[in-house]
Amino acid sequence: MKAKECCGLVGICSDSSVSRKLFFGLKVIQHRGQEAAGMAVADGTKMRWHKDAGLVHEVFDKEILDELEGNVGIAHVRYSTTGMKTADEAHPIMAKTTMGDIAVCHNGELTNAEALRDHFRKKGAGLEGLSDTEFIVRILAGELEASTDPTRAISRTLAKLRGAYSLAILIGDRLFAVRDPHGIRPLCLGKMKDGHVIASETPVLDLLEAEFIKDLKPGEIVEVGANVAKSYQIPTPRHKAHCMFEYVYFSRPDNCLDGQLVYDVRRRIGEILAVESPTEADSVFPVPDSGRAHAAGYADGSVIPMAEGLIKNRFVERTFILPEQRDRELSVLLKLNPVKSLVEDKRIVVVDDSIIRGTTMRKIVQILKKAGAKEVHVRIGCPPVRHPCYLGIDMKTREQFVANEKDEKQIAKEIGADSLVHISLEGLVEAIGHPMEDLCCGCLIGEYPVPIEGERVRHQETLKKFY
Ligand code: SF4
Repeated sequence: MKAKECCGLVGICSDSSVSRKLFFGLKVIQHRGQEAAGMAVADGTKMRWHKDAGLVHEVFDKEILDELEGNVGIAHVRYSTTGMKTADEAHPIMAKTTMGDIAVCHNGELTNAEALRDHFRKKGAGLEGLSDTEFIVRILAGELEASTDPTRAISRTLAKLRGAYSLAILIGDRLFAVRDPHGIRPLCLGKMKDGHVIASETPVLDLLEAEFIKDLKPGEIVEVGANVAKSYQIPTPRHKAHCMFEYVYFSRPDNCLDGQLVYDVRRRIGEILAVESPTEADSVFPVPDSGRAHAAGYADGSVIPMAEGLIKNRFVERTFILPEQRDRELSVLLKLNPVKSLVEDKRIVVVDDSIIRGTTMRKIVQILKKAGAKEVHVRIGCPPVRHPCYLGIDMKTREQFVANEKDEKQIAKEIGADSLVHISLEGLVEAIGHPMEDLCCGCLIGEYPVPIEGERVRHQETLKKFY
């Protein structure tokens, strides 16, 4: 089992209709969320929206996109980390205000959602949804009552939020993009021929033939117009906290994130891993598709040839539901099959990006041994994940991690491998190319960039200044 992605968002302001551009933008970041999709579009007089459970192509068709008429809009793919998994909670989350309709798409997770929930309960407000984005919308709606300046209302809203949030906000027909003060989740800005686009990942810009302008800075608010993009800055702590898992697993390899091409980072991870854990072997196998770039780097660094020894069935849906335990056991076999001639009597290094529960890797080792592998050595492009994520990734309990309270030898035994080595934290940081103090490595080291009850927090002095 892999960690589930969080969410992804796209926003466009253009001289022409945006619904199709948003639709294709969402298709590019479908990997960031497969439970629900939604879109809100404004034409200067009216805001229209549509959202539902399902993949992007299941939620939208030609008729729906035709009805979403307008030159400015926001869109979202969702995997829920908080709240119920219902179509109602698909984004955008909407509200009516004195400034007209507003719509918000959120990627991330608030760490003070419980405090906000109490606050609204005490005020007697009904809580329609359970997702933390609902709180953002309510606070913003309240601030818009108090101020007719949307940028001021947004910055006053942000002062009440803690945690990870990249936001696309539609206020009437004005589009705003926001990145939290630590820059935990990604968000970039691009210039199209006839407008501007914001997106969670740069391949959306590539698809729309938009020129990359920048990654939003931590704490940056951008008002995105068709011709200009105006920037504002809220106070930020001294250090950033970009999620290291975006580089290791979540982002597409062709995404350029905060100045680093994710594919290059993954290759460097593989190369460093090869230096840190030299292995006598005949072949390096990637786990398709997640371990491909890491394995290519490992093969380069170790001078052991890479081979496609595991073949992926491309037609198994990611949302495939297997009702019986026995069927679930078969699911890895359905997805991956070994090439026997590459396996028989061979010493194999299997490379993947990360291990969470260990169920998939255990099955892969079994498959290879059953196909005649002499030795199976597992190499992982991420240090052991032992702590929960509170910042937008669905890894919530320590018990779910195979590395919980175990060392590498014990994990190797549990998954049946002849050896297991994870990249070191120092090696990972070197491969990513940002200083350690500008990365979130909370799920690796149990120390988080924002206060979380019962957990260690780093740089607390600096954070207090802003909060
Ligand atoms: S805890 Fe882990 S997954 Fe969550 S934001 Fe930090 S690095 Fe990313």
